[in-house]
Amino acid sequence: QTDDTHAMIEAHALVSQLYHYILTSTEEGTEALNYLHDRGLNDEVIRQFNIGFAPKSWELVTAFLEKRDFDQHVMIDAGLLARRDDGNAVDRFRERIMFPITNDRGQTIAFSGRLLPGVEGPKYLNSPETALFNKRETLFNFANVRKEIRQTKAVTVFEGFMDVIAASQAGITNGVASMGTALTPEHISKLKRVTNRVIVCYDGDSAGLNATYKAVQLLQEARGMQVKIISLPEKLDPDEYIQTKGVVAFKDFYEQQQIEWPLFLMRYLSLATDLSQADEVAHYVEQVLTEINRIENPIEKEVYLAELNQRTQIDKAVLRQQLAQRQPQPQYEEFAFQPQEQRLVKRTALD
Ligand code: ATP
Ligand code: MN
Ligand code: MN
Ligand code: MN
Repeated sequence: QTDDTHAMIEAHALVSQLYHYILTSTEEGTEALNYLHDRGLNDEVIRQFNIGFAPKSWELVTAFLEKRDFDQHVMIDAGLLARRDDGNAVDRFRERIMFPITNDRGQTIAFSGRLLPGVEGPKYLNSPETALFNKRETLFNFANVRKEIRQTKAVTVFEGFMDVIAASQAGITNGVASMGTALTPEHISKLKRVTNRVIVCYDGDSAGLNATYKAVQLLQEARGMQVKIISLPEKLDPDEYIQTKGVVAFKDFYEQQQIEWPLFLMRYLSLATDLSQADEVAHYVEQVLTEINRIENPIEKEVYLAELNQRTQIDKAVLRQQLAQRQPQPQYEEFAFQPQEQRLVKRTALD
C-alpha cells in the first residue's frame, strides 16, 4: 500500500467516526436520527453499521482533515472532498445520512449518503471510484457477512443498504447489497469464494423483478451456485415489508417463500404474456421448457411441468414430448458457445 492509500483509509476511519458522532450525539444530527428511528432502526444497529450524518456545511470535513494534516489533493482523490470551480476544496457530502462502505477487511473505503426526505437532489450519492473503491467489486456489508456465513452457510443479496440493515435488525444477518448498480460477475466470484448458496431478495416492484431476472441469470452462469429467489408481494421492498407487516411476517416469508428459478421465470414471464393468445403461449412454453430442460432431477422436472400445465392448460403429454425433442441437459457455458443452438441461448429471450 502506498502512503496515499494509507492516508485515505485513515481519513475514512476518522470521518466515519465524526459523522457517526454528529448523528448520535449532537443537535445537528437530531433530525436525521429521528428519521432513522421513524424508519424503525434502533440505536444498536445504527452503531453496528456505523451510520452517520454529514451536516449542511461546506467546510466541516475540509477543516477537520486540514487540522489533521491530510493532503487536500489526496482527500479529493479519496472522494471525501470536492474541488469547487474557484479551486477551493469543499465537503463532498452535505446534509446526508452516511452509510460507510467497507472493503473485505472491514476498513471504510467509501460512503453512500442518503438525503433526508424533502431535500432536493439524487436520493443516494456514492463516493466516486478511487484507488480503493471499485463499485463493480464492492458489496455493502460483505466483510461482516464473511463471518456470518460460517453459521448460515448462505448469503442474501438485497437491492438497497436500508434493506440489508433492516433485515439485519430483524435477525437476517447474512445480507449484502451492490452499490445501487446491477450485480456483476466480480460480485459473484467474490460470493462464490465464501458460499455456494445465494438467496436473491430484491424489491417487489418491476425494477426489482427485472433486476432479479438478470442477477439470477448471471448466478446460474457462475455454475455450482444454488440460487433461491424471494419475490416480495405488493411492490414492497424488504425494508418496507418489515415496516408494514412486521419482523415475524418478514422472517416467515423469508424462510418459507424461497422459490427456484423455473418457478420465478414462470411468474415473471407471465406478467408480460397474454396467455389467451396462442402465439404468446407458444413462446412462453418455449422459454420455460428451455429452463426445465436444464434440471437433472426427473421429479423436479415433473413438478415444473405440472405447474406449466396449470398455467397454460397445455397437456402434460404434449409438454413432455416437446421437452424430449431437446438436447438433454445443456449446461450454461457449453451453450453460450454453441451457435448452432441459437434457439436455446437464454439471453435472447428478453433482451
Ligand atoms: P430507501 O428505502 O432509503 O428509499 P431504497 O434502498 O429502497 O432506499 P431504491 O430506490 O429501492 O432505494 O434503490 C435501491 C438502491 O439503489 C439504493 O440502496 C441505492 O444504493 C441505489 N440508488 C437509489 N437511488 C439512487 C440514486 N438516485 N443515485 C444512486 N443510487 C441510487
Ligand atoms: Mn428499488
Ligand atoms: Mn427499495
Ligand atoms: Mn426502501
